[in-house]
Amino acid sequence: MLKYLEVVTQKRTHFEEITDAVQEIIDESGIKEGICYIYVPHTTAGVFINENADPDVKWDIENALDKLIPWEDGYKHIEGNAAAHIKSVLTGNSLFVPIKDGKLLLGIWQGIFFAEFDGPRDRKVIIKLMEG
Ligand code: ZN
Repeated sequence: MLKYLEVVTQKRTHFEEITDAVQEIIDESGIKEGICYIYVPHTTAGVFINENADPDVKWDIENALDKLIPWEDGYKHIEGNAAAHIKSVLTGNSLFVPIKDGKLLLGIWQGIFFAEFDGPRDRKVIIKLMEG
């Protein structure tokens, strides 16, 4: 089964936690054991897993990426959003998470974050569940 999550971002850079929305899709599916594949079909966005307990962690990640990849840095890409493309490469655009007992098998401090690097935009995240 394939599902779409809609993510509407309001800023150029924004990390939106989607853990609960992904878990809801698993709940609706009734799948107890399997793999959840999370795929972002965009070239200036990404997806990653990291700490969701302290919200400062996502700000630190955002600031570190901004320092590493400034918005303006003599890039050749004519659209003007080369930094967003580069950040997307760094985070990657897909994840696999095991499903056990109907739940995402995440660590206690882990959450799944959609990463916007060229917002505001309307984005999609594709969720594919594989039972087994
Ligand atoms: Zn571009």
